[in-house]
Amino acid sequence: MLLHGALDEGGARVDVRVDPGSGLVADVAPELAAGPGEAVEDLTGFLLLPAPAEPHAHLDKSLTSDRAVNPTGDLAGAVTVIQRIAAEFTHADLVDRATRAALRYLAAGATAVRTHADLGEHAGVRHVRALVEVRDALRGRMDVQVVALCGRPATPEETGRLQRLLAEAVELGVDLVGGAPHMWADRDAGFDFSWDAAQRHGLPLDLHTDETLDPTSRGLSTLAGRVSDTGFDLGATASHCVSLGVQELSVARKTAQAVAEAGVGVVALPQTNLFLQGRDVPVATPRGLTAARTLLDAGATLGAGGDNLRDPFNPMGRADPTEAASLMVTSGHLSSSEAWAAVGTGARACLGLPAPALVRGAPAELLALRAETFDDAVSGSATGRVVVHRGRVVARTVVTQEFPELHAP
Ligand SMILES: [Zn+2]
Repeated sequence: MLLHGALDEGGARVDVRVDPGSGLVADVAPELAAGPGEAVEDLTGFLLLPAPAEPHAHLDKSLTSDRAVNPTGDLAGAVTVIQRIAAEFTHADLVDRATRAALRYLAAGATAVRTHADLGEHAGVRHVRALVEVRDALRGRMDVQVVALCGRPATPEETGRLQRLLAEAVELGVDLVGGAPHMWADRDAGFDFSWDAAQRHGLPLDLHTDETLDPTSRGLSTLAGRVSDTGFDLGATASHCVSLGVQELSVARKTAQAVAEAGVGVVALPQTNLFLQGRDVPVATPRGLTAARTLLDAGATLGAGGDNLRDPFNPMGRADPTEAASLMVTSGHLSSSEAWAAVGTGARACLGLPAPALVRGAPAELLALRAETFDDAVSGSATGRVVVHRGRVVARTVVTQEFPELHAP
């Protein structure tokens, strides 16, 4: 298939031939002639970019904000509400909402999504079972990875039950082990629970890490140290890392250095953090973002994602990587290129996926946006889009805009 007539990131004309057989880019040139019988996608008026990815979603919780309001607007309030309404989540409801949310991400251009699935007393393995089913049903359209998000047990009995639930989740086919050690009364015990489980089951790790403005929360440093000390090479990602953004610069720099050396990926989640963090600070409210600049300066892998979508953790959201990228520019002070890299190559590195590019032999994961310039594209103002996954068009959004003639009354 020939993708014809688009402009590249720098505004130069580019034609790209993609091969659905190999799923790779077959040819790139300013102008390519269509072969006999070759399908042509006319992208005149579009910018063609490597497709972004969503490195951190919660498809099991998505599209539920109309069912209950988070009374405090903070993380604790969100957890309380989700654990209450999760009792009503049936398998069909979970699959339906997760599928609709995943397709929204795909339509926006994210051909790969990593989603967490609640695991614990309130969820059992129901969320895992549903999201694994959704992952498998969407294969061929998009890549979905499922993380077993281990809850916070309150008693030794609950800890034992959580261990058994996790073993069941692994049987069901989850791709990674997750957790949220900063939510445990004993953060070290919370970390060890997920760390040991990842080792035991031979799975990569993606931890909700330091989702708090408390600067004494040093989970990112613990994770980087443990990965370096043990040579754990299955892949480790730390999501949120809010406290890194409020620590002394010298402390944050040291941690960022350790993160870069350990090869741990950090995922910034601007929208949910801006919503949940700093509720108790009415004046000069902190942004609640990780130290993006410090991490980039240290050479660490930085991804950015959307996290929650219309749920008690975040009633807003567009399931669109351009939203995270745009927020990384305005609230994280990255350049538009850095922000696009965070939702693109950075996000894919966190997912353990190769980086697509407009280069022969690269993965044919591409996004065409009806945009005039690169900033126009990253801002998210472009709603008309064509999405290519493994060399096939998998989503197309067509928007009609009209300005009817106005006549004086
Ligand atoms: Zn999350």
